[in-house]
Amino acid sequence: MGTKVLIKEFQEKHVQTPVKVAVANGDGIGPEIMKATLRILEAAGANIEPEFIELGEKVYLSGNSSGIDANAWEAIRNNKIIFKAPVITPQGKGYKSLNVTLRKSLGLFANVRPVTALHPYVPTHFPKMDVVIIRENEEDLYAGIEHRQTQDVYQCLKLITRPGCERIVRYAFEYAKAFGRKRVTCMIKDNIMKLTDGLFHTVFDEIAQEYPDIQNATEIIDIGSARLAANPEKYDVVVTPNLYGDIISDVAAEVGGSVGMCGSANIGKNVAMFEAIHGSAPDISGAGIANPSGLINAAVAMLAHIGQPEIGDKVKNAWLTALEQGYHTADIYQEGISREKVNTQKFADKVIENLGQSPENLTKSVLSQGNGTIRIPEYVRIYQQKKLVGVDVFLDWQGHDPDALGEALSNLDIYRLKLKMITNRGVKVYPEGLKETYCTDHWRCRFVGVDAQIDGQQPQYAQIEFEQVVALLSKLHHLEYDVVKTENLYEFDGQRAFSLGQGE
Ligand code: NAD
Repeated sequence: MGTKVLIKEFQEKHVQTPVKVAVANGDGIGPEIMKATLRILEAAGANIEPEFIELGEKVYLSGNSSGIDANAWEAIRNNKIIFKAPVITPQGKGYKSLNVTLRKSLGLFANVRPVTALHPYVPTHFPKMDVVIIRENEEDLYAGIEHRQTQDVYQCLKLITRPGCERIVRYAFEYAKAFGRKRVTCMIKDNIMKLTDGLFHTVFDEIAQEYPDIQNATEIIDIGSARLAANPEKYDVVVTPNLYGDIISDVAAEVGGSVGMCGSANIGKNVAMFEAIHGSAPDISGAGIANPSGLINAAVAMLAHIGQPEIGDKVKNAWLTALEQGYHTADIYQEGISREKVNTQKFADKVIENLGQSPENLTKSVLSQGNGTIRIPEYVRIYQQKKLVGVDVFLDWQGHDPDALGEALSNLDIYRLKLKMITNRGVKVYPEGLKETYCTDHWRCRFVGVDAQIDGQQPQYAQIEFEQVVALLSKLHHLEYDVVKTENLYEFDGQRAFSLGQGE
């Protein structure tokens, strides 16, 4: 089984030859900030070869609902690195988000967003903040699997996979090692979601052991995000599943004061994409006054990723120095702090003049202090013995009395299956439910084998056959129960692989 290598691959391939990059100028202010950024990269000696591709508004309006045409796909496949200015998704139905298309089609599993304080040039309460949020990008509630099942109830499936967790957690530790970071914090909610977030936590603990030189910590997302907002200077690298990551990466950017200045990276096994987090700013498009800093920061991340972290540091430190000298675009200009209000290209000139300098007060970029290599091994699936021990049958039932439903289902003569309990929105309502529990029209009825010992503290489940489930469903259907879905109950290597109902 070969080892997949991200950064190393580029380093080895491109010792002398430039790294080809698919560059999208984007819409609105996109072309202006891209021109400024590419000038800086050239002056800094970045060893890249841009190939320009067309993405966004023009492509959408030409009738392509994804905003990306076959030529651009081809260039992305060939170049493997995308450097993208913001694009406009036209209003109206039918246009798909270009970012979601790129992220999902290209398997860009990691979203990486560094947030560094720029106080007092961009005011924040946390002048020493320097945090990187690493968000899983493909799974979780964003799988987009949603259903309406009854009059009252809608569901969204949260999918967390072992390969997905291994990849993102490994990426976070490798990132820390590659770029001289000291600590990785995992944020999850596994006190409630014991199987899904529990898996993320377990994988984090397993992988953390392989990195004894990097500190690790785990926090529950609610208090973790509160602490991140109140005390962001205490965090270094944070790794988290998709939804929490979506939220805390914005929290971090906001408390850092620098939403308009952040770049982000979307990293996959084969392709990576780098962009600013702001949009195409149509209100100032063409005026030549846009701030190119978000795209410059995206470029810095790109240089680190393609094995040129020294150039990344050079660009970032020159950019920080220009900010310290007080050369500010209109969006961050402050009387008394700024020296001169500069336009986009003049700001780029000031960054270029400072190449080789380091900031005096702001946190210096040290991407090149790590070992610069990110390795993500191929996933190896370890098979475990899987045993069917029951089934949860979800009914759309318009009655109100859980005891009536429970008794009716308990008296069914079903081939060696028995009703264990009924829950409504996860709370046990039969047997021995509380009258106070509010019930919707969505009833989860748990059936297990008749040989299961379910009365004690530690239930022992017995193996059942799938034919028994089919017989049960057939019987319920003939009795005119409205079955809206089922979930099989399994044990893996003897371990229960389903959650218990509240009060079960
Ligand atoms: P926006 O980020 O474009 O603009 C919000 C405000 O911030 C505006 O006042 C704008 O002038 C200002 N601003 C943004 N970037 C700036 C910069 N670099 N320098 C100075 N000022 C800047 O957000 P929006 O107005 O909600 O969206 C405009 C368009 O951008 C929409 O079509 C949206 O779909 C698109 N968008 C694209 C991306 C992307 O391609 N990644 C991300 C977000 C929004």
